[in-house]
Amino acid sequence: MYRTQTCNELTLKQKDKSVEVAGWVHSRRDHGGVIFVDLRDKYGVTQVVFDPSHNKQVHAIAEHLGREFVIHVKGKVRPRPKEMVNPKLNTGQIEVIADRIDVLNKSVTPPFEINDSQEVNEELRLQYRYLDLRSNIMQNRLKLRHAVSFAIRTFLTKQGFTEVETPVLVKSTPEGARDYVVPSRVHPGKFFALPQSPQLYKQILMASGVDKYFQLAKCLRDEDLRADRQPEHTQLDMEMSFVHQDDVLSVVESLYAHIFKETMNVKLKTPFTRLSYDESMQRFGTDKPDLRFGMELIDVTEVAKKADFKVFKDAQQVKCLNPDHDFSRSDVDSLIAWAQENGAKGLAWMRVTKDGLESSIVKFFSDDVQKELLKTTKAKPGSMLFFVADKSAVVAEVLGRLRNHLADKLDMRDPKKFEFCWVLDFPLFEWNADEDRWDAAHHLFSRPKEDHLDFLEKDPGKVKADLYDLVLNGTELGSGSIRINTPELQERVLKVIGMQHEEAQEKFGFLMKAFTYGAPPHGGIGIGFDRTVALMAGLTDIREVIAFPRNKKAENPMDGSPSDVDDKQMKELHIKTSILKKS
Ligand code: ASP
Repeated sequence: MYRTQTCNELTLKQKDKSVEVAGWVHSRRDHGGVIFVDLRDKYGVTQVVFDPSHNKQVHAIAEHLGREFVIHVKGKVRPRPKEMVNPKLNTGQIEVIADRIDVLNKSVTPPFEINDSQEVNEELRLQYRYLDLRSNIMQNRLKLRHAVSFAIRTFLTKQGFTEVETPVLVKSTPEGARDYVVPSRVHPGKFFALPQSPQLYKQILMASGVDKYFQLAKCLRDEDLRADRQPEHTQLDMEMSFVHQDDVLSVVESLYAHIFKETMNVKLKTPFTRLSYDESMQRFGTDKPDLRFGMELIDVTEVAKKADFKVFKDAQQVKCLNPDHDFSRSDVDSLIAWAQENGAKGLAWMRVTKDGLESSIVKFFSDDVQKELLKTTKAKPGSMLFFVADKSAVVAEVLGRLRNHLADKLDMRDPKKFEFCWVLDFPLFEWNADEDRWDAAHHLFSRPKEDHLDFLEKDPGKVKADLYDLVLNGTELGSGSIRINTPELQERVLKVIGMQHEEAQEKFGFLMKAFTYGAPPHGGIGIGFDRTVALMAGLTDIREVIAFPRNKKAENPMDGSPSDVDDKQMKELHIKTSILKKS
């Protein structure tokens, strides 16, 4: 080793000892001839002193050190002078007086300083990711990510799971997003796809008798990128045989309790809250409710109908929020504008005072109706009510978002709290109005509930499945389901989305064939691994916990991908390009 200690280890215990340290020059200060270097490695910082009266040659070399030079120093540990003691550093009591220095590598001037302020623009950080990753903050994120994957592997191994790698070059099968494709050299004109998830392979592993499978799997989706999306992300993928929904949920709950305990010493409450999809939509207006705060949607449709207010009377549904807070006139105006930008025709409001309700619409509400409204909403003086009257889907959408918006405004989302919940019983299909057909709400392999099988052809919108989402603090972490395990049922489901026998066989024949040889009942889940780590670290952007992420244009500014390939490669692949449109 180039060192006897890391840059975080030396204390007064090593006083007068000869030591070796190595790392990067974090900073160099020249104090009237004596040079002080903060030497940094992954573990910490040690002060090294180059004194010409101690060693002239060594000092002369130190005069040429720049930021991020890599050096190796031999020297003696000595106490720092009193006024230079730094109680914030583990090594703050000592310094190393250099007897020898080797410059192991030079550095050109870095485009930004290595520190934890992260004020540099993201493109530059991604371009020089190796410098960005040198900061403590990024090193700690990588460490947390590793600790989480280690905890997952330890826990699931103990539970009898086997980690199995599934192929990266797969058959292109629609799974919701757009595939990345890879041309085959051996089969001119044919393509592989990169997997959107290991879904079909993990189901086939169940048909293969693996019983309990998991994998930290790369999933690749050629989607337009939103802030929280990456074309390649890592998923904790799991599948189990002979299980019911509850078995999957409870393994995941114990797994997350283990992860949080091991890596952050946080004790999670299990079992997690369970809500049906319908209940979640009614109470929170969303299928990813943030349960760190209350402020549920209150249904006042019946009371509102008794008022003389046409907007409320004619609406399919009227619901309101009671944030238990009073807002100024200008706040209310901006909330109305916000609601309109977010799909509402308007946002009605009432202020609750000691003398009753106040607002321009109160005149349409008789005393009795006002009383009933106060009773239903449990609103107290000093608060305000915000109403949306519309079709129920719009009411849920707008008030669901407004609930989160108000929670942000009123600082109701405690970053230290981790509120998990399961949302259950999702519909299997959703209507695609643009293309006039049913789509799978999650994917095509979820098993309809036994007593909903009859609706499959008659009324697909009514079919619910044992389909579940894991939600943390208002963010969807993952989805899973109990799967179909017979070819007959799989074909029926494919038919609902308009896939006839030939196409179904062409695309999913290999899965259905596996089902014909005795596939056990099975179910599982795919959980965002990057997202889990990000939320644990208090972050919203998964790029912050991925070593080499892509920017919003799916480029990697460090390696310059995607890039051209040379003519020879294209020839080998039997491909001639004529680009129709260059972005
Ligand atoms: N393959 C699914 C997904 O990526 C997860 C699952 O159903 O297990 O969303």
